[in-house]
Amino acid sequence: MAEPTFRAPKGTRDILPPESGRRRALVDRFADAAGMGGFGEVVSPIFEDLGVFKRIGESTDVVTKEMFDFLDKGDPPQHLALRPELTASICRAYAEHRPVPPWKVWYEGPQFRYEQPQAGRYRQFTQVGVEVLGADDPQADIDVIALASRFFESLGLTGVQLSLNSLGDATCRPAYLEALTDYLTGHNSDLSAQSQVTLERNALRVLDSKRPEDQEIIDGAPVMVDFLTDETADHFASVRGGLEALAVDYTISARLVRGLDYYTRTTFEFAATSLESAQNAVGGGGRYDGLVEDLGGPATPGIGFALGVDRILLACDAEGVFPAPPSPVSVFVVDVTGGSHALDVCERLRRGGVGADRAYGGRSMKAQMKVADRSGAPYAAIIGEDEVAAGEVTLRDLRGDAGQRRVALDDLVRDIHALTN
Ligand code: AMP
Repeated sequence: MAEPTFRAPKGTRDILPPESGRRRALVDRFADAAGMGGFGEVVSPIFEDLGVFKRIGESTDVVTKEMFDFLDKGDPPQHLALRPELTASICRAYAEHRPVPPWKVWYEGPQFRYEQPQAGRYRQFTQVGVEVLGADDPQADIDVIALASRFFESLGLTGVQLSLNSLGDATCRPAYLEALTDYLTGHNSDLSAQSQVTLERNALRVLDSKRPEDQEIIDGAPVMVDFLTDETADHFASVRGGLEALAVDYTISARLVRGLDYYTRTTFEFAATSLESAQNAVGGGGRYDGLVEDLGGPATPGIGFALGVDRILLACDAEGVFPAPPSPVSVFVVDVTGGSHALDVCERLRRGGVGADRAYGGRSMKAQMKVADRSGAPYAAIIGEDEVAAGEVTLRDLRGDAGQRRVALDDLVRDIHALTN
């Protein structure tokens, strides 16, 4: 094959059938789970004012290095950015529309980050997620975490592990940050060059480092849970107790800080043990009690998560679960009289709720039967001159051993429903 003139941009992919059908089924499965949990869908713009995303945190890579930002053609131009995640957009929407709290919403869609592409890390990727705005209750944290956990289970995944931490709140975080900064500054010369730079911006973010030379220092660092106020500690204890009551397995990970600055109190991450550890996070989330206010809205607590659809599908591949759904085409219509009868029969079938496909170009019976076999349809409806004269089709079983028989056109939809249900 000749080299194509254009390829999809670096870090982006075309998702083709049948894989696209699998991706769609996964998103639909999530939509069902979220809908059953009382969440309604929010569809928000793919780009926003850059300022919306700056609130994610001026010291995060997502904001400083990875933003796809651009000026529009206005006069003066507006500085916009493709969304790197959806929580900030949802909080912006909440501040703009002021819905009655608690506001429980879910979303799906592409996100954009200018990252170094590798397996499971793309510049355009899809997330599904939920947010609950206006509920401080630890029951909301439990509900949200259990929803994600049950969703992974429903796909058939068994190797997804939940890590949980509390990052404290505005009352207890300063003392912790001071202790952490003092500790890391004391070990500054042993940290990697990158972590030394990170430390100047945000000590917490150093805990995110995966560099081997940082690990020993990170392991000895003070942990947030030792600094929680009674109130935050109670909240965290309630979340843990609730998860245990629902038999949602988790491990406490005192160094889980997550990549975004806005998290407070509960934070969590789901990792797929079947994937390479650098890209094994299949989802994560937490509380962001100050974000709506930062975006100009009323003081509003919030909790939510985002799951990475592309990586979940890689984890499904690795575990051999959640195959592509079968084709919805039940009947492949083979017309050897020229093709216009196939048009009628397909129309009749589709109107009757039966998936139907056909060949084009008036090809031979043999060529059309080949396409029928490849289509995955369990039945072929064959139309020759005899069938046309009798107002019938020959219905052939392509997968089983039922052979073939003539069926009156008027009975075709009923018969196929009977055979396929
Ligand atoms: P985050 O918004 O960074 O917490 O990411 C939530 C989830 O989105 C992660 O756990 C990943 O599954 C997925 N994700 C984040 N960045 C990427 C990326 N560049 N490519 C593919 N998936 C990603």
